[in-house]
Amino acid sequence: MPIATVNPADGRTLKTFDPLDEKDIERRIATASSAFADYRSTGYARRAELLRRAAELLERDRDSIARTMTTEMGKPLAQARAEAAKCAKTMRWYAENAERLLADELPRPEDVEDSGAARVRVVYRPLGVVLAVMPWNFPLWQVVRFAAPALMAGNVALLKHASNVPQTALYLEDLFREAGYPPGCFQTLLIGSGAVEGILRDSRVSAATLTGSEGAGRSVAAIAGDEIKKTVLELGGSDPFVVMPSADLEQAARTAVTARVQNNGQSCIAAKRFIVHEEAYEAFSVYFTAGMRALTVGDPTAEGTDVGPLASEQGRADLEELVEDAKAKGAVVLCGGERPAEEALAAGWYYPPTVLAEVTPEMRIHREETFGPVACLYRVPDISAAVSVANDTSFGLSSNVWTREEAEVARFERSLEAGGIYVNGMTASHPAFPFGGIKRSGYGRELAGHGIREFCNATTVWEG
Ligand code: NDP
Repeated sequence: MPIATVNPADGRTLKTFDPLDEKDIERRIATASSAFADYRSTGYARRAELLRRAAELLERDRDSIARTMTTEMGKPLAQARAEAAKCAKTMRWYAENAERLLADELPRPEDVEDSGAARVRVVYRPLGVVLAVMPWNFPLWQVVRFAAPALMAGNVALLKHASNVPQTALYLEDLFREAGYPPGCFQTLLIGSGAVEGILRDSRVSAATLTGSEGAGRSVAAIAGDEIKKTVLELGGSDPFVVMPSADLEQAARTAVTARVQNNGQSCIAAKRFIVHEEAYEAFSVYFTAGMRALTVGDPTAEGTDVGPLASEQGRADLEELVEDAKAKGAVVLCGGERPAEEALAAGWYYPPTVLAEVTPEMRIHREETFGPVACLYRVPDISAAVSVANDTSFGLSSNVWTREEAEVARFERSLEAGGIYVNGMTASHPAFPFGGIKRSGYGRELAGHGIREFCNATTVWEG
């Protein structure tokens, strides 16, 4: 895949970049390694000062970096601006809270005594150089979600960003440099995925985090496993959105539309499978389909656009294949399901909001992640069937349930196989809450205290 900015709204290549050669990569790993030697001993106050400065700069640059993201991957401009704002907020949150989250832990006095020690503490120390392999869908957020806690913990970062967002990737390096971070604390490597293995095997690189597809995750985890290095994986999702009869159906349907089409439908935590109790099915599917049909598809830089183009031609082809397979096997198209006919959209990689009903397990779309604005509707007779359809996936990222019955909430909480359960709302990450999945959605957690500790060495200090 060339490293290039290609505008998904019209397919034009705007800028290409040469990948780093081996010497460049070696130099950058050496710089990261020597930066870590000093940066690890900076205090929390200094680290927080740097991260707050980065947040300020990001807010200053919000409009221009939002435009860059939209140009590179097609998200509506308002969503790109919101992404930049969320990154700044998360930087501030970690600047404020990292010291507390990584404070020394004191075991119970009876356990200390039992161990024969005079004193025992558990202290959190950084691991070192962490390689971040990141995707294009939230090109700022995915990186900041890792970098803010990693830098506050005293680690340094090497970023291998997706090949279609090179300008956003370079911006991030500039941002941290301008904020005053010592050289080498955060570097962007313009490289293809083939160069990842060599970096991961380098003894100066301690750990890796990857957000992306299952295939990429498997490859990075296998190499890291071979090298006995820590990884965090945040992979795909096919989140259920369960609607029970007691729910406010209009509200549920409005939220369902947003949950499905946010980021042009290319989000790991987008709701993708809408599992509706038969008593609510007709009303919900009417509201939901009307909401999907009413969305404005078009130029992502235009005010009022709800859904822009998909990020790549391949991404649209993959999505189309899933829809065609479902149609051929009997799925009923309630809206969308064909490329838009308008001439203005012909050059870009657009796909319309689509709702499919009568989806069955034989269809590929039942098992595979739909990375675009396509929703599958399922009708179920009771809560047991709802849970069973919701869990009938290899993924386990997040989940959404709509009900006013406490007993149903308790049942879903116990039974849904996912890293998050959002009741009467849609999944949205927040810096204070852990985020991540189970099953083939990956392992490890990002954000909150869980996230910052992933790339720390929990060291037991025993004093006799
Ligand atoms: P990828 O997983 O291919 O890309 C994500 C990152 O991983 C990119 O930086 C990519 O680099 C890198 N990468 C890819 N393969 C390897 C590898 N073997 N070893 C090391 N690094 C690798 O995602 P795609 O863009 O191809 O999207 C495909 C599908 O993945 C989507 O349709 C969606 O289902 C899922 N996905 C999930 C995301 C999420 O948020 N969980 C985000 C993006 C995709 P390069 O760009 O150079 O190939």
